[in-house]
Amino acid sequence: MPYDDSSPAPESRDAIDPDRPWYTRRSTLAVAVAVLAPTLLAGWVLTQVVTETGADAKRPAALSPLPASHTAAGDAKSSASPSPSPSSSPSPTASASPQAPAPAKGPLAGKTVVIDPGHNTGNFKHTDEIDRQVDIGTNRKECDTTGTTTNSGYMEAEFSMDVSRRLRAVLEERGVKVVLTHEAGTARPWGPCIDERARIGNEARADAVVSVHADGVSAGNRGYHVILPARVKAGAADTAAIVGPSRQLGERIGSNFSRTTGSAPANYLGSGTGLVVRDDLGGLNLSTRPKVFIECGNMRDGKDAAQLMSAEWRQKAAQGIADGIVGFLGG
Ligand code: ZN
Repeated sequence: MPYDDSSPAPESRDAIDPDRPWYTRRSTLAVAVAVLAPTLLAGWVLTQVVTETGADAKRPAALSPLPASHTAAGDAKSSASPSPSPSSSPSPTASASPQAPAPAKGPLAGKTVVIDPGHNTGNFKHTDEIDRQVDIGTNRKECDTTGTTTNSGYMEAEFSMDVSRRLRAVLEERGVKVVLTHEAGTARPWGPCIDERARIGNEARADAVVSVHADGVSAGNRGYHVILPARVKAGAADTAAIVGPSRQLGERIGSNFSRTTGSAPANYLGSGTGLVVRDDLGGLNLSTRPKVFIECGNMRDGKDAAQLMSAEWRQKAAQGIADGIVGFLGG
């Protein structure tokens, strides 16, 4: 800091001052040390024997396994992250898996992934706020939507947040820096708006962005699909640079998701490819970083809903999405 440079601490200035009197009295001091040293040393040894014994008696408590492993995990985690980020703070997901993330190596070093949990469980109570229109380049659209639910009331926003947290944990294990566009709870009672969701990815200079959703169409329609950005250029929207890499990202996510979950590509759109191109989503139109949406299944279909409500299945979903992202990043 500048004030340190202009005003050195007294100790450091004294230490390099050749005019200090102690310099000339050095030989006297040395003699005194030589005379006193054996006495002091004997006393020190005696003290150490006593205190070491005392310390040993306390050691089992001080080195109990739980605090030791927590400390090691915390240290390894902070050294793996070059700068503090919201995602490095403790979270329910992080505390559930105390293993330290592997330090980022090779192609994953320095990579940032932004995960966008679709909707927000608070949106149902903030319809006025989320109905506000925002500019998505090609046209204007609602700030955000409530999302769908299963017939039993399990909310898409709950699902998307859960999968997003699991996905974050998997990616952080690989040493990737992860940013969520929002967190569950009171910190963000609604939204963010779709334009802000895109902006968060852009400003993070994310290497990949994925928005996590589940669909809400009539029963019998099943399976997952990945939504890719169309080529659009209007207002603030210009996707020319991301159409190609986003397709690569989406193809990798789709195939890995299918592998880990056993789900088939959607049977109601995408012609069985599990890939759909859209030009009406603000989150894609306004992105300047490779980005896709994934609709993990249909919440209104009983069989798909049973999967979406299974924590075990959601872990497989997160793993598949993560594998796709890591593959896209070259890891
Ligand atoms: Zn959705």
